[in-house]
Amino acid sequence: MAVTVLIVEDEEKIGRFLELELVHEGYEVMKAVNGREGLEKAQGGKADLVVLDVMLPELNGFEVLRRLRKNSDIPVIMLTARDEVMDKVAGLDGGADDYMTKPFAIEELLARIRLVLKKRGGGVSTAGRDKNRLSVGKLCMDVQRYEVSYDGKQVELTHREFELLKVLLENKNIVISRDTLLEKVCGYDYMGETNIIDVYVRYLRSKLDDVYQVKIIQTVRGVGYCIKDENG
Ligand code: CA
Repeated sequence: MAVTVLIVEDEEKIGRFLELELVHEGYEVMKAVNGREGLEKAQGGKADLVVLDVMLPELNGFEVLRRLRKNSDIPVIMLTARDEVMDKVAGLDGGADDYMTKPFAIEELLARIRLVLKKRGGGVSTAGRDKNRLSVGKLCMDVQRYEVSYDGKQVELTHREFELLKVLLENKNIVISRDTLLEKVCGYDYMGETNIIDVYVRYLRSKLDDVYQVKIIQTVRGVGYCIKDENG
């Protein structure tokens, strides 16, 4: 299931840029252009994480965070202007999960989003975590912590690569068609390129098979893909 990120940002260019990057990474995106709208949408229960600008019309980011924290534990990453050190302190006290100082590198924001989601997912019981562990051979996936490793070494995947690998691991030894994978990874209303699954399989292979000299994902000609036990 896709993770939904709410972007609360009044500067249209930045909001649009963030939206494009997040969608590219496979996130669902909601947007709000002022503090009041941002608070309402964050409380609406549809978002999994909020990227919250500090300088906003109607309610500033700190006020949004303060009101949000009265009844919501949703992860929040704040965007502050350069050198607003006091803002960072205020944000910390207000219960933000992390901060980015503008201007920022998008890769860093994406990394922090993954990290915050990972941290938030980490606080579950051992029993629950075992259920969330998928593996084949030396390849391990911790669904809750959003981590993948091969032979103990961390493998960095994008959101969609992760989702694709997860579906294949959940259905180990079963051949899954491209259509099913497309629906599970991109959503039933996906309207883009139909060969996108092949593209993501190629990305996964470049990060796993090519690096570790293994053959994890099998192509079943004319049907789809499969991860088999003996090929991990
Ligand atoms: Ca702003």
